[in-house]
Amino acid sequence: MDRTGARDVSIGQATNWSRLRGHNAQREHFEGILAAGRLGHAYLLVGPEGVGKLAFARCLAACLLCPRTDDSTLEACGECQSCKQIAAGSHPDLLEVGLPEGKNVVPISVLVGDGESRGRAGLCYDLSLSPMESDRRVAILDDADHLERDGYSALLKTLEEPPARSVMILVAGSEADIRDTIRSRCQLIRFSSLPTTDVADLLIEIGATDNRTEADEAAGLADGSVATAALMLDPNMRTLRETLYRHLARSPMDPLKMTEEVVAAWESLGSDSHSKRVNATWVARFAIEFYRSVLRVLAGADETSTIPEAASLCSQLAAGDPATLDRIGSMLDRCLDAERDPMANVMLPLALEA
Ligand SMILES: [Zn+2]
Repeated sequence: MDRTGARDVSIGQATNWSRLRGHNAQREHFEGILAAGRLGHAYLLVGPEGVGKLAFARCLAACLLCPRTDDSTLEACGECQSCKQIAAGSHPDLLEVGLPEGKNVVPISVLVGDGESRGRAGLCYDLSLSPMESDRRVAILDDADHLERDGYSALLKTLEEPPARSVMILVAGSEADIRDTIRSRCQLIRFSSLPTTDVADLLIEIGATDNRTEADEAAGLADGSVATAALMLDPNMRTLRETLYRHLARSPMDPLKMTEEVVAAWESLGSDSHSKRVNATWVARFAIEFYRSVLRVLAGADETSTIPEAASLCSQLAAGDPATLDRIGSMLDRCLDAERDPMANVMLPLALEA
C-alpha cells in the first residue's frame, strides 16, 4: 500500500474484521454484493470522522485481494503473503493516499503525478496498471472530500473509465463536500457513529490509554468517534477541559481568572487559525457538557454527575429551584450559541458571567 505523504492514521490499522467494531449493516451490504457477483468499480464510504471507515476500506481490500478466499465471500484468510503484506502496508496491488500531514487539501500530484510525470504517476495512474500479485488492484482515496479543484476532474476521468480489474474506494467525512459528478459514479455506503462502549474498548485496544475510567470518560465526550476520543486524552486537551470545569464549578466564579487560564490552555493546543477555531469549539462543547450534566442532576434526571466538578457544584445548588434551573439553563443556551460561532465567543467564560 503506497500511502503517499499521508498522515499516520493509527486508528485505521485494523485489516481484519475481528478487530473492527460496529458497521455490521455495511458489512452485510458488501457480503450481498460479493455473493451476487456484483462488485462495482467505485465505492464512496461517508460518515463521521474517526468511526473506522478507513479501517473498513482496508478490511474490504484485504478480502478482495486475498488469494485463498473465494471472491464471492467477504473474507480474508489473514495468514497468506497477501494478507500479511496488507497488514504491513506493503501490498503492491493496494494503493492508498490521503491528506498529507499538516495539509488541508490532497494535492493533484497524489492522484496523477506532477510536472514531467503528470499522467504517469499517482493513484489514478497506478490503478490503471496490471495487478502484480493479485488478480485486481484496489485503490483507497482517504479524505476524498478534500481534493484540490483539478483533482476532481482527474478522479472523474478514472471513475468514468475505470481500469479493468480495479476497485476504487473513496473515504470521506462529509457527503455534501463530494461533487455530484463524483458521487453519482460511486455506490454510496453511509457510516454512523460507534456506540460509546465500542469507542472506549478501541481506545484501550490501540493503546491510547490503559485506564478504563479514562477511556469511558473520553468516549463519552466523543460522539462515537475514536479519533475524537483519542484527542480527548491529549494532555493539553485535558488541561483545557479540567481548567474550564474547575472554574465553572466555582461559586461565585472568578471570570477574569477563568478567562486568563482557559485562554492560556486553549492557546497551548495550537496557534494556527484552524486549530484555534476547532479548539474554541471544544471550549464551548466542554461547557455544554458541564451545564447539561448540572441541569440533569438539578432536574432529577440523574442522581449525580459523572463530571466530579459538576457534581461538586450541584451539591452547592438547590435542586428543583426554578430560579437556579433558569440560570443554569440560560448558561447552557449561551454555550450552545458559542458552539455555533466559536471565534466570536472565544471569551465564552467571561460572556457567561456578563
Ligand atoms: Zn489471505
